[in-house]
Amino acid sequence: MKPVVVIHGGAGAISPGTSSPEREREYHAALQAVLASAQAVLARGGSAIDAVSVAVVGLEDCPLFNAGHGAVYTSDETHELDAAIMDGATLRTGAIANVHHVRNPVLLARMVMERSRHVFFVGEGAERFARANGVTMVARDYFSTPLRLEQLRRAQRETPDVALLDRDGQPVLANRQTTPAEPIDPDRKFGTVGAVALDAAGNLAAATSTGGITNKQVGRVGDAPVIGAGTYANNATCAVSGTGTGEMYIRMVAAYDVSARMQYAGATLAEAADAVMFGTLPSIGGKGGLIAVDGQGNIALPFNTDRMYRGYARPGEQPVTEIYGK
Ligand code: ASP
Repeated sequence: MKPVVVIHGGAGAISPGTSSPEREREYHAALQAVLASAQAVLARGGSAIDAVSVAVVGLEDCPLFNAGHGAVYTSDETHELDAAIMDGATLRTGAIANVHHVRNPVLLARMVMERSRHVFFVGEGAERFARANGVTMVARDYFSTPLRLEQLRRAQRETPDVALLDRDGQPVLANRQTTPAEPIDPDRKFGTVGAVALDAAGNLAAATSTGGITNKQVGRVGDAPVIGAGTYANNATCAVSGTGTGEMYIRMVAAYDVSARMQYAGATLAEAADAVMFGTLPSIGGKGGLIAVDGQGNIALPFNTDRMYRGYARPGEQPVTEIYGK
């Protein structure tokens, strides 16, 4: 069995004027660096849980992605971060939502998994648990970046006019002088980070971390920390991390659905992942992508948007990173 780690840095559509070859090179370089660090964990016999933790910390620390430093803003110009981690060997898990001082939310989620008799902490209690357990805390403005603030301003200017009309379901500006197919900034909806891994012992793990969606209402929690929706791992089937329209992932219990299709219907990883990504999620307007790995090291990275920042790495092999579809 060959260990493997798979990561994503969010899925979405191109935002006019925001993409360039240099920008894309930056994304590839960031994904490559994160994969290299997680690959090194697996290469020295490290666990899947360690590999996904290292990968998600790297993505949280990179301002290109909507998690940790670089997280999007709520409608109140604050940041509320969500994360989860799950160990497929034991089905132990930890999740946190609505924190605003925790530098690496995935590490707090892991601490919840390892040191608490509970599974899911939110808001004030999550922060208190973090302080009590020595998690690195930062000032609120650590998460702020000019790009995300501009995205918030734009979203707030444009939201009253938004309608979901265009050919591929991207939000468009109904009352503005613009081409009908011009999407509004996709980053308002997508950009979460996640990782799944299989280690040499045959164990699976998944982790997801996000700032949520730009201009979200204060207190809103998406799918990332909801076990079974945006994050799930079970050695008997697969490990999954999702990114996209969180409300739909919650309604369709998307990550668990991939696992359940394998467990109850005998689907392969690819069949199960495609059925969720191209069947159940779009049936209620769900857009985004997911990454998944099974106990044999098969991987799936389907998405139904025009891009998903993603990649995978196996020990001893050059990491692979991709942005667009094939
Ligand atoms: N799924 C995330 C959420 O709804 C957003 C994303 O994937 O970027 O919070």
